[in-house]
Amino acid sequence: EAKRGGRSTYRFFEASMNEAATRTLRIQNALHEALDAGYFSLCFQPKFRGENGELAGAEALLRLDHPELGALTPLEFIPVAERSGQIVEIGNWVVRETCRQIRRWESAGLPAMKVAINLSPRQLGQPDLVESILGIVRAEEVACERIMFEITETVAMQDAARTTETIREFQKNGFEIAIDDFGTGYSSLAYLQRFRVKQLKIDRFFTNGLDEHGREGGAIVSAIIALAHSLEMDVVAEGVETASQLAKLKTMKCDEMQGFLLGKPLTPDAFGALLQERALSP
Ligand code: C2E
Ligand code: MG
Ligand code: MG
Ligand code: MG
Repeated sequence: EAKRGGRSTYRFFEASMNEAATRTLRIQNALHEALDAGYFSLCFQPKFRGENGELAGAEALLRLDHPELGALTPLEFIPVAERSGQIVEIGNWVVRETCRQIRRWESAGLPAMKVAINLSPRQLGQPDLVESILGIVRAEEVACERIMFEITETVAMQDAARTTETIREFQKNGFEIAIDDFGTGYSSLAYLQRFRVKQLKIDRFFTNGLDEHGREGGAIVSAIIALAHSLEMDVVAEGVETASQLAKLKTMKCDEMQGFLLGKPLTPDAFGALLQERALSP
């Protein structure tokens, strides 16, 4: 296809391919040093209860700030770490750091909150995933009940039989599981029932749709909520950005909300301040 436009187009194509490859390589190298150099950090996005607006917990989101490459978004560096295999070590760091942060809030006398951690496909492919996470959480002396793991729908369904086993193993130890970005992949409803997870997180796309397509968009969200509730799961709406989305979700009895309207991802200190506020208000 690139050849069709003649030699110059091909060269241009080749040059941009090289650029992309070079960037990937630079990110890969950045990832190598990032753990030791302390370029990674976590931020925490609050989740709120639909019925009363109370703080329900947090989701840990990874940040990478490199001195030369600048601030990279997870959408850029997670896929690179995923392909190179570095995600396993990075993922372990996320679990350890989340545990340490939970302890820091605890020592500051702040109320206990459940924190969700995202897992990537490669991590889920590790046969000793649950065991190694358990090792980290125990070493940091955090109760497993304080942690939830988020697995995207697409990844969960890729090898649903195996996912079922992994979920069971997590749950056996007290961890909770959420299915992330729900609605954009293809779910086997039989497996969804078998997973018996705590939460279903409706993908941002559908939350947006509440404004954009009027009644049609709303139909999908309320169908997902009804499905989840009939399977005894809680529903979280991701990416709530407008007051009208929030109002509609409340009417639909969505259990929890997350989004820029209610709270952006916060530094650990800023999230601590939010916890403090909640502790002081009746
Ligand atoms: P996700 O798990 O679905 O996380 C939600 C993403 O949506 C976050 O982006 C969050 O900042 C963003 N978001 C939240 N509310 C809103 C909103 O109202 N509007 C919009 N437009 N966006 C909103 P972020 O932090 O860039 O993370 C992107 C993805 O990277 C995450 O999607 C998750 O899949 C992955 N990720 C992040 N941290 C980790 C990690 O520690 N490990 C792994 N494996 N993946 C991670
Ligand atoms: Mg998530
Ligand atoms: Mg999500
Ligand atoms: Mg999403």
